Amino acid sequence: MNYITSPQSLTDILEIATWQQVQDSFSAIIGYEISVLDADGRPLCRPSNENNICRIIKETAAGASLCSEYCGKSIKEAVKKREPFLFRCHANLYSFAVPIILDEKHQIVILGGHTFFSYRDFAAFIKNVDSLGIDRARILSLNKDLKFSDTISLKLACRYIYTSASNMLKNTYNQNIFRQKFSQLLTLFNVSTDLSFDISHYEIYGIILNVLGILFDVNTASIMLKAEDDDVFRTKTSFGQKDEIVLSYITDASRGIFGEVLKEHRVISTKSRFKIAEAGLPDEIESIHIFPLFKGEGTSGLILLFNTDISEDDKKIIASFCNQVALVLENLKLKSELQEKLKNLSILMEINKAVGSTLDFEKLLQIILEKSTELTKASQGSLMIYDEEKLELSIKATKGFHEKIVEQFRIKPGEGIAGWVLKEGEPLVVEDIERDERFGKKSRPRYKTRSFISIPLKINSRIVGVLNISDKVTGEVFSEDDLNLLLSFANHASIAIERSEYYNKSEVLKKISITDPLTELLNRRYFQERLTEEIERSKRYKYPLSLIILDIDNFKNYNDVNGHLVGDEGLKITASCIRNAVRTMDVVARFGGEEFAVILPQTEKDEANIIAERIRKEVEKTYYPMEERQPKGEFTISIGLATYPNDASELLGLINNADRAMYAAKAQGKNRVVSYSSDITNNYSSNPLSLTMNGTNGLTATI
Ligand code: GH3
Ligand code: MG
Ligand code: MG
Repeated sequence: MNYITSPQSLTDILEIATWQQVQDSFSAIIGYEISVLDADGRPLCRPSNENNICRIIKETAAGASLCSEYCGKSIKEAVKKREPFLFRCHANLYSFAVPIILDEKHQIVILGGHTFFSYRDFAAFIKNVDSLGIDRARILSLNKDLKFSDTISLKLACRYIYTSASNMLKNTYNQNIFRQKFSQLLTLFNVSTDLSFDISHYEIYGIILNVLGILFDVNTASIMLKAEDDDVFRTKTSFGQKDEIVLSYITDASRGIFGEVLKEHRVISTKSRFKIAEAGLPDEIESIHIFPLFKGEGTSGLILLFNTDISEDDKKIIASFCNQVALVLENLKLKSELQEKLKNLSILMEINKAVGSTLDFEKLLQIILEKSTELTKASQGSLMIYDEEKLELSIKATKGFHEKIVEQFRIKPGEGIAGWVLKEGEPLVVEDIERDERFGKKSRPRYKTRSFISIPLKINSRIVGVLNISDKVTGEVFSEDDLNLLLSFANHASIAIERSEYYNKSEVLKKISITDPLTELLNRRYFQERLTEEIERSKRYKYPLSLIILDIDNFKNYNDVNGHLVGDEGLKITASCIRNAVRTMDVVARFGGEEFAVILPQTEKDEANIIAERIRKEVEKTYYPMEERQPKGEFTISIGLATYPNDASELLGLINNADRAMYAAKAQGKNRVVSYSSDITNNYSSNPLSLTMNGTNGLTATI
């Protein structure tokens, strides 16, 4: 991450344009040429009081190369040595090189002097100028203006440049870097208050410490924060040489020097071994500056600088910086709270959407539970619905439980935790179940932690259910905040549940409209719809399909002898016999008074025969009340069977043929299965229940 933009050029930071004038006056004072170059020997500005000999030498290629070799070497050496020194160049000119360490990465050099110490030096240089292609006459013409110097005066000049000029450049550099960093910080602060900007607290802490570290040459630093309901400062981030050591540091807010900071609301600094030890800091810490981060009346956090000398002026700057930091941190907190709220709002919207789009009761309950655990960062939960008739709670949705365990649970009002919540109608937050007086001492091996929330789901004063949440993912206990969040959500959830309940009631109505109330089998109208669909499907996929129609034998007798109620019982028993004998994919319906039908999708005649026989046997072997009074001492049925597409290719034909087969079974002595074949058609064409078209609407029996 790089929030600190790349620095400007050295010439900008050093304000070279201004420096040029200053440099001219320095040069005038010492009476020598001076110039400033970067660590690679590139001039950063024009030389002041430039030596004419140097200028002429540099005019030829050979001369320039020698100059850059000699002066270049000295510049490199100055950078390496980190201290000023004198040197003599190829032209016998004496110079000084003053290195200026701006920071760890930036060094520059002031080069000055370029003076002969004696005429002899000049004469020796003259000898070589021809070979360098330098105009001897021009050099000689300078003879009259030559000034000679000596080691002492050059050293003095060097010293002066080193103390004054280099400090000036250093200060300018530092000030500008500081200004630059500060403006970067301001940008950063502005940025951090922008809600759309996504940066974590830890990143901000890191940047704050890094910036302080760079600006004030800090050895070690840390940020400590205090939770609102807690009197402990915890280290959040550390920086520098001893970052590991201070990172684990935690202290009571009232302890020693920390108590002083909080009480006096100001920066506290100490080098006292005793105070440092009293604060519980290790021996490696020799000094400490504590800067409070104020928030309203109190102190929300601290910035600590360790083992670092800070001037009083710098302390003031850092203290005002800390005010800014406190604001930023507060903004960050508000921002994350707002984000949390937005997130919760979006969860609520999701719920409403889910409710709007699906009115499937079970799915809705599962969504409510999922969202509740998401809101509170819980890993386990259950949603119980109250049955007002049975006066009990049963678990309808779970997260993190084994479903089988849960299915068994039935809870009466007052029983256990959920029962308590149901009875009292009050929410419950338990921090530690084993220490809670109301429910204490029960071990709850199902749960990983001992903290949970249980709330009633209410519509006005009617309780529709209980929501239980446990095991925070973070291992923490549930807070009042979690409870409040859940309660605001529970209102929506309850309304959603109520809405879905209404829907459920209409589901019941729908179910009633398709089933026969006595046997709970599908009714005839719905059976016809299903058979139409199944035939369509069989046509499309070229599957066979079989249809069974069965009729109770001598049922009039059963009714007449035993009465209608027993007759009804016989119908119910028959329905369950059929259901027991068929597969789940088969469709069983009550077709008429004591007639039933079974659709066998994807079933050939042979297999259908087996199933039909199974039904017949099931009825035969099942005991029916008073069946001994039936003509053959047994309650039996006759079954007819027809298969699509062999026996009929259309709905009506299939029903008619199955029906004819059933009458053939009656004619052949009852209690048997007859499969349709073309030869029975003629024999039983006059059966009284044969089906005819009724307009275009469908079928009706002509009795
Ligand atoms: P078969 O063996 O030829 O089928 O003779 P059956 O007596 O079973 O046939 P029939 O059609 O003569 O009599 C059917 C009787 O079923 C007439 C009616 O009283 C009775 N029944 C029809 N629907 C119901 C019902 O919902 N409940 C009761 N208890 N009886 C019913
Ligand atoms: Mg009948
Ligand atoms: Mg009958």
